[in-house]
Amino acid sequence: MYSFPISSSFYAYSSSSNFKSFNFKPINATSQYISLDPSTPTKNPSPQQPSNKTGVIVIGAGLAGLAAATRLQAENIPFLLVEAAEAVGGRVRTDHADGFTLDRGFQIFITAYPEAQKLLDYNALELQRFYSGAQVFYGGRFHTVADPLRHFSDAIGSLTNPIGTVVDKLLIGLTRIRVLIRSDYEILIADEVKTIELLRRIGFSDTILDRFFRPFFGGIFFDRELETTSRLFDFVFKCLALGDNTLPKNGISAIPEQLARKLDRNSIMLKSRVVSIDHESEECLIVNLENGESLRSDLGVILAIEEFEASKILAGKIDPGKTKVPVRSTICIYFSVDGDKVPVKDPVLFLNGSGGGIVNNMFFATNVAPSYAPPGKALVSVSLIGLYEGVSDEELVERVVKELSGWFGEAAVGLWRYLRMYRIGFAQPNQCPPTDLMKDPRVKPGLYVCGDYVTSATFDGALVSGRRAVEALLKDRAKAKV
Ligand SMILES: Cc1cc2nc3c(=O)[nH]c(=O)nc-3n(C[C@H](O)[C@H](O)[C@H](O)COP(=O)(O)OP(=O)(O)OC[C@H]3O[C@@H](n4cnc5c(N)ncnc54)[C@H](O)[C@@H]3O)c2cc1C
Repeated sequence: MYSFPISSSFYAYSSSSNFKSFNFKPINATSQYISLDPSTPTKNPSPQQPSNKTGVIVIGAGLAGLAAATRLQAENIPFLLVEAAEAVGGRVRTDHADGFTLDRGFQIFITAYPEAQKLLDYNALELQRFYSGAQVFYGGRFHTVADPLRHFSDAIGSLTNPIGTVVDKLLIGLTRIRVLIRSDYEILIADEVKTIELLRRIGFSDTILDRFFRPFFGGIFFDRELETTSRLFDFVFKCLALGDNTLPKNGISAIPEQLARKLDRNSIMLKSRVVSIDHESEECLIVNLENGESLRSDLGVILAIEEFEASKILAGKIDPGKTKVPVRSTICIYFSVDGDKVPVKDPVLFLNGSGGGIVNNMFFATNVAPSYAPPGKALVSVSLIGLYEGVSDEELVERVVKELSGWFGEAAVGLWRYLRMYRIGFAQPNQCPPTDLMKDPRVKPGLYVCGDYVTSATFDGALVSGRRAVEALLKDRAKAKV
């Protein structure tokens, strides 16, 4: 249980700072603390509340903002992390309801993400692994696609299935070698085309493109057309080759929560929406909150918010770029069922390779992470791509139940009880070519941006972008001192 202040007159950074001369000055602040534990009442701060020191204001406590704060803390630089929502995590959030663990949208954590490996304690996350492959629904039945290095006999057994030709399956092996021999940096700055173009150039048949790549990578990018940059495809393909697909035992939000727990608790300010930034002087930026309060930073501001939010806040001053459209959207629908009525027991992802219907992918979450449901119950997670605006929740549920009855049988699916639906309008930025996955985080000295739109639209990209924003800030400070 931690208490986080929700207003602007705290800036605690207790360790000795390299930047003692850069004081954080609240302008018109009143203070209040909240607890993330609902059983703990809200407290008023003690009069001796923290020393009046911080340097950098980080706006947004998604993975990018948390990574920036982590790096600032490691450098002994005082900071304040200001978040509009009532909790950290941004797009990586989980709800716990009636014993079920409901991630806000289907999200998978790939253990090979390089930046995540540096920042996270995997053991503490108690990562639960998926089967390395998938079951593809095509022609009225399921067909296995397996990683030959991890499930050799399954892969051999599936060589002649209708999900692709034998040549396609050999090309997957060659694609693996092609990405593994290149560094992440080389991949992220390589010449780019749309993913679909890359796959065609490699020689994949339309059969495997439609039956495997569109539902699988389309599900990762929320883009069944596979127009997303080949740079992102290669990066994710490499991570998939090197790591496992997992879920943290306590839900996907355990990832940002672990990062937040390592930060000075008094340096995170929740329920505080930033509306604008003003320049008091060359050195000093004023961050204005929706509640009328203002924060002053002499050391710099890092905007770790979505691109369209950053554009609004910097409007009329500096425009960090235009958000590409359409942004990527998804719907996640949860059902519960008695644990002994689950039609399959494997921790495997099911893909729609049929070319029809609205379901893109689904899985029995409790087959991967039993902790996602209360004892005796199972959790079913179904994902659609797009928002289906104009289609009611009831109609979507009805269509999904009907479609999946064709997969698992009416008798089995008829037992599922609808739990909840998440319609996620902004899941990921659109990263179709042309992209720059190594964007300069510097808007101007003292003002920086980070977030998945600055690098790759993944957990890892967001984490990298936070670190890089701080590195740019440090470089500018060092230059200013010379
Ligand atoms: C359903 C879904 C599935 C996904 N699946 C995967 C996956 O399987 N693997 C993967 O690698 N990635 C996945 N992603 C992408 C990944 O979650 C994102 O790339 C990453 O979390 C982005 O982090 P961020 O910090 O850049 O942005 P965000 O998480 O959006 O954080 C921005 C934060 O800024 C706050 N904020 C915004 N405006 C203001 C303001 N004015 N004042 C104060 N605070 C503000 C927001 O509340 C938010 O907390 C998925 C995303 C979604 C939604």
